[in-house]
Order: sequence, then structure tokens, then C-alpha cells
Amino acid sequence: MRIDVITLFPELVATIKEHGVIGRAIRNGMVDLNLINPREFADSNNGRVDDRPYGGGPGMVMQYHPLKKAVEQALSQIDDGSATKVVYLSPQGRCLDQASVRELGGQENLVLICGRYEGIDERFIDTCVDEEWSIGDYVISGGELGAMVLIDAMIRTLPGALGDDESAQQDSFEQGLLDHPHYTRPESIDAQDVPEALLSGDHRRISRWRLKQALGRTFLRRPDLMDKQSLSELDQTLLNEYLVERQNENKS
Ligand code: SAM
Repeated sequence: MRIDVITLFPELVATIKEHGVIGRAIRNGMVDLNLINPREFADSNNGRVDDRPYGGGPGMVMQYHPLKKAVEQALSQIDDGSATKVVYLSPQGRCLDQASVRELGGQENLVLICGRYEGIDERFIDTCVDEEWSIGDYVISGGELGAMVLIDAMIRTLPGALGDDESAQQDSFEQGLLDHPHYTRPESIDAQDVPEALLSGDHRRISRWRLKQALGRTFLRRPDLMDKQSLSELDQTLLNEYLVERQNENKS
């Protein structure tokens, strides 16, 4: 997969190459990450890429031409005819979720546009952008963190990116549920013990316990996700058990 990020702050986005499993995946060549600064394509000699908004008002707007030339530069590097999607990170886009991250992660080439200031000239969005995606219903100062969130989430879904491919499959949202709780040593902390099922060594029992916790958590924390689930008979039994156990815990 090739990703070109068009950003006024390439050094900020470059830090994603340095750390953890995502950094390793990029360094290993699983993703070819390229950073393009639209300043290189500024209309004026002073590197200016923004101007005042027509109609007045606060802030500046990123100009059309430097961004357009930056996209052309990215596309000119993709010479094998493979498909490319141009994505603008924007609070006005559709909210990313695990399914859309997987879909975007399946693209051969992505060009990610990072806005700054008040945003970018609408004519660039109209003519050069295929999709707008948001990382949530809040506004941040620039698209770089949004692009980094998307890149991180996409790389996690690529086969071989994580030490154990199963770990991505078990993440929250992958199966439509939140993940179950996790514990590690020591076995007991201030009278809080690791649940007995996890110490049993009985794999069937451990899977059942984990599924029960995932169902119960999702039911309590994310009823919106639960509404989308069609529960099997076993799921329903485990959820009922979870709710009864919780009620008993609260009584004691
Ligand atoms: N005036 C714009 C608005 O209210 O829609 C916000 C501009 S914001 C300060 C500057 C840039 O940050 C945007 O062009 C976009 O690239 C990025 N950005 C801000 N919030 C975002 C979000 N929730 N998701 C993705 N990108 C975001």
C-alpha cells in the first residue's frame, strides 16, 4: 500500500515512522509512506500557500493551486495504473469507524490531504477530493493528527502488521462488540483477583468468559452497537448470565 500525505507539517507526520508496531510496519516496507509539502508548489516565491477568505472573517484559507500541484506530484509517482483515492481529513466528513478504516486500508494508493487554518478552498475539494473523512465530532487544528490516526488504524488491519494477526481480529468493533477485559501478573492486587475462569487453563471456559464480558460491556457501554447485533441463543444466554452476575455483585 502506498500513502502520500500532503501536509504543511511533514515532520509531524514523519514521527509515525519512529514508534511501535506501526513504525515497524512502515520501516519494513509494508506501507510506502511519502510526505509532500504544498509549500514546494507555492504560487509566490515566499512559500505562501494561504490567503484571506473571500467575504471577510477570521483566519486564512489554504489555496487551490499548491494543493492541486501537490496531488499531481503524488499521482505522478503512481505509474503502475493502480487505483488511487484522494481523501481530505475534515470535521465535515463521514466519521471513521472500523469498517471504513478496513475499506480504506484495502486501497492500493491513498493521498491524504491535511487542512490547516480555516480549511481549504472549496474548489479543491470539489475537483480533487474523492472522499472526506472525519476522526470525530470535534475540531482539531490540522489534518495531520487525523491522517496519523487513520494511518495507524489502517496499518493495524493489514495482514502481518501486528505480531499476532489474531490480536486485530479480537479488537473492539471488529466483531461488532467491545473487547473483553484483560489482566496480567500479579494474580492479586489489593484483594482484587484475576477472574477464576482465566486461570483455569480450560480454553472453552476462557472463550465463553471473554465472550460474556464482551457482550455485557457492549450492552452497558454501547447500546448503539448492541442494537446492530443479531444475538445467537448462546450470546443471549451469556448476556443474561452477565447481567444477573452484575446484579448480584452490586447487591453484595
Ligand atoms: N473551519 C473548519 C470547520 O469548522 O469545518 C475547521 C478547520 S480546522 C481548524 C483545520 C483542519 O483541521 C481542517 O481543514 C481539517 O483538515 C483538520 N480537522 C479538524 N478537525 C478534524 C476532524 N474532526 N477530523 C479530521 N480532520 C479535522
